[in-house]
Amino acid sequence: MENMLSDIIVSNRKHTANGQVATYIPELKKANGDDLGICIIDKYNNIYCAGDYDKKFTIQSISKTIVLAMALMDNEWDYVFSKVGMEPSGDPFNSIMKLETNDTKIPCNPMINAGAIVTTSLIKGKNLKDKEERMLSFFRKLAKNDSLQINNSVYESEKLTGDRNRAMAYLLKNDGIIEGDVNETLELYFKQCSIEVSVVDLARIGLLFANYGIDIETGERVISENISRMIKTFMVTCGMYDASGEFALKVGIPAKSGVGGGIMASVPNRMGIGVFGPSLDKKGNSIAGLKVLEDLAQRLSLSIF
Ligand code: GLU
Repeated sequence: MENMLSDIIVSNRKHTANGQVATYIPELKKANGDDLGICIIDKYNNIYCAGDYDKKFTIQSISKTIVLAMALMDNEWDYVFSKVGMEPSGDPFNSIMKLETNDTKIPCNPMINAGAIVTTSLIKGKNLKDKEERMLSFFRKLAKNDSLQINNSVYESEKLTGDRNRAMAYLLKNDGIIEGDVNETLELYFKQCSIEVSVVDLARIGLLFANYGIDIETGERVISENISRMIKTFMVTCGMYDASGEFALKVGIPAKSGVGGGIMASVPNRMGIGVFGPSLDKKGNSIAGLKVLEDLAQRLSLSIF
């Protein structure tokens, strides 16, 4: 398996030259565009890694899956889905357009920025600090890694350049979709995006969703079966930005990407996969990471369809 993964990394590294690292968050410019790494953890807890698997990067939009799980654990589901929809948007992740044109004014789904800002606003806690601690400890529990931390430079950089997210949050507050303090919600959102992970962490979290919320090592139920199913479904329909349809056809597994270059994939009953390649295509997906997953899905027949 490791030889196969090394082959896949070596043969796809050339694609990194066709993309670019994210620049709209200045701190992300520092990533090395040539990096490419993968980790798979299967349901027998075998861990296989290749390429730049030991690099750290910020989780960015992949955090949206975990925060959605928290929002669904903290609130009645009907309440959550009265504030965020279930449909792919077909627009870029940071689009503001449909917030005005949709009849309901709610964001299309929890995987775009507007929707994720809403799910973040639904996290319970006494104050910002308490919410931040709950969030970080939930991420650590899912990744089974107590050393996960917020990367402060990225967080500051997000804050400095996050005006588009601020605009969406204020609009959502104006329309009564976000209740409570908008600035607190934004702080928490910038922080969740800035949590630093490796592909091993992503594979571990992907495996938990693949295993319907049960920790394979301890047998502990961490997330309900229904919530795990909902997260994987959103990953299929909206997880790869406005390239989710093409990804479903070519790869066919639930996956969520982030502009830090990470992709977390979850193959039901089989494995969790973490991929890292910060050189992105125009839609914001890791350009070589997509090719890696395409190859892997073909070699291991991973498509769920
Ligand atoms: N922090 C990023 C933003 O809000 C996340 C975007 C992403 O990874 O898609 O713009």
